Amino acid sequence: MIQITMPLNFLGTVYREIRQALIDMGDMFDLLGQPAEVQDKPGAKPLQVNGGAISLRDVAFGYEAERAILKGVDLEVRPGQTVAIVGSSGSGKSTIGRLLFRFYDVTDGSLCIDGQDIRDVTQESLHAQIGVVPQDTVLFNDTIHYNIAYGRPDATEAEIREAAKAAKIHDFIMSLPRGYDTAVGERGLKLSGGEKQRVGIARTLLKNPPILLLDEATSALDTETEMEIQDELKAMGQGRTVITIAHRLSTIADADRIVVLEDGLIVETGSHNELLEKDGRYAHLWNRQEAEEAA
Ligand code: ATP
Repeated sequence: MIQITMPLNFLGTVYREIRQALIDMGDMFDLLGQPAEVQDKPGAKPLQVNGGAISLRDVAFGYEAERAILKGVDLEVRPGQTVAIVGSSGSGKSTIGRLLFRFYDVTDGSLCIDGQDIRDVTQESLHAQIGVVPQDTVLFNDTIHYNIAYGRPDATEAEIREAAKAAKIHDFIMSLPRGYDTAVGERGLKLSGGEKQRVGIARTLLKNPPILLLDEATSALDTETEMEIQDELKAMGQGRTVITIAHRLSTIADADRIVVLEDGLIVETGSHNELLEKDGRYAHLWNRQEAEEAA
C-alpha cells in the first residue's frame, strides 16, 4: 500500500505545484494520471475561438470556502486587446489566470471566451487555445528540440527553427556542439533564466494560440535581458488577446488597458496615463515603485 500511495502523493504535490505556477501543460492531467478537480461536463463541446474576447462577470472565488479571494470581478477584454492586471501582492492577480485556464471553477459569476462559458467546453480545447508564458518555464529532461516542439508535437523541423529564431534563441542553440539535440533540464545543460524564458516563448509561438496569458515576473533576469524578453513578449502579443499578470509596473505601461486589483476587486481601470492623472491607487503603486528603483 505504501508503495502505491507514495508515488501518488508525490504526483499530487507535483500537480499542485504546476497548477500554482500556471505552467502551460494542457495535458498534464493525463501526464500525471491524476483525477482533475475540475471535470468536463457530459457532452462538453470544443471551444470555438473567433477573435478571443474574454469576459469575467461578477466573478467570485476562494480556495477555501471561508476566505474569498475574488469578490465580484468584472472584466471585458476585447479581441486583440492587451490588458494588464496589477495590484499589490496577494490581491488575486494570478488567481484570475488560474481561473481562465480552469484549474479551478468560479464560485459565483461566469468566465466566458467568445460568449462560451468555459465550464461548458472541453478542457482540452480550452488549453489548446491559451498559451501561457509562466514566470519560470519548466524544461523537461530532454532535448531542446523536444522542449520547443512540446508546444505542438506535430511541428516540422523548419517550424521549430522558425519559432526559435523569433524567440531569439536559435543562434544560441546553434552555438552548442549538439545544437537542437542538446539535452537540457535537471539532468542536462542548465539554461539561464533568460534562455529558459526564450525556450518558453518559442514553445508558445509554435503553439500559436489566439489567447495569451503572461505571468510576468522577469525579476530573476538582468535588466538588459528583461528588456529583450519584454520586446519578444510584445511581438508575440500582436494579433492576439493578451492578459498580462504584472508584478512590476514598468513593463506594462503601454498595455491597452490596465486594471488595478485590490483585495479581490477591480478598483481602477484605464491607460497608464489616465491612471497617473487620476492620482489614485495605480499612481500610488507607480510612484512607490519608481522611488524603490531610484533607491
Ligand atoms: P503576487 O503578486 O504576490 O504573485 P497575486 O496577486 O498574484 O500575488 P494570488 O497568487 O492570486 O496573488 O493569491 C491571492 C491570495 O490567494 C493570496 O492570499 C494567496 O495566499 C491565496 N492563495 C493562492 N493560492 C492558493 C492556494 N492554492 N490555496 C489557498 N490559498 C491560495
